[in-house]
Amino acid sequence: MLGLDGKTAVVTGAGQGIGREISLLLAEYGTRIAAVDVKPDGIEETVSLVREKGSEGYAVTCDVSDYDAVRECVAGVLAWSDQVHFLVNNAGITRDNLLLRMSLDEWESVLKVNLTGTFNFTRALTRHMLGKRYGRIVNIASVIGVMGNAGQSNYAASKAGIIGFTKSVAREFAARNITANAIAPGFIATAMTEALPDDKRGEMLRMIPLGHFGTGRDVAHVVLFLLSELGSYVTGQVIHCDGGMVMS
Ligand code: NAP
Repeated sequence: MLGLDGKTAVVTGAGQGIGREISLLLAEYGTRIAAVDVKPDGIEETVSLVREKGSEGYAVTCDVSDYDAVRECVAGVLAWSDQVHFLVNNAGITRDNLLLRMSLDEWESVLKVNLTGTFNFTRALTRHMLGKRYGRIVNIASVIGVMGNAGQSNYAASKAGIIGFTKSVAREFAARNITANAIAPGFIATAMTEALPDDKRGEMLRMIPLGHFGTGRDVAHVVLFLLSELGSYVTGQVIHCDGGMVMS
């Protein structure tokens, strides 16, 4: 019924956090996982956990912001798997600073990984998906890309960019049975949010109507829905997974 068994997903930033949780949940439903990350250790572990779930995995080290490296990475994945059905653009970084103190490097590095990285993988895989007349793309944005946040203008711009990009891709490829959606997680307990000071965490918690932080598994559930047959009539949407932080 879900239609995930035996299909192949590329998941970026799969070495830890939300990317790993997405990989493991999909593996539970029989999806084969090409786990991509900038460093090898995390993805090797993700792939061994994928195998423990009874599915197949392939670890590939790649910097998502490097256009040529991404093309090479996709060629490797397509040598491992005849078809890639799903792409989850999840790799992301933060380099927080107030705008008046933000360096050009802090601005550019976040845009390059979060937004250009999403472009690179989508660009590299859509021709293949067009040929197969099938594709499901999920881009991990953020509530910050919708509501903004002081000290995160670079991150907010990258995530708002992902939302506009996703809607454009959805329109461009809808006629070929390729859907593209974004997920906007709120505050999810991972290494990315661990570094926040206690007062900031308390401030965030007060903004969450459900009264607790989310988990990587919460985000993975939304990914699962969008990739499965249950989500086949959904495209160009931004699904919030944030405990009610942002309501539109
Ligand atoms: P995380 O724990 O830091 O994991 C992100 C992964 O992406 C890491 O394994 C990281 O590798 C990898 N990565 C970083 N730069 C990369 C690059 N250039 N190429 C390939 N991989 C790269 O973060 P997370 O919390 O799981 O976040 C996952 C996604 O969700 C991100 O896009 C993030 O913006 C988004 N998100 C998170 C939250 C949250 O509250 N956690 C909320 C909203 C949105 P290294 O660690 O080795 O650099």
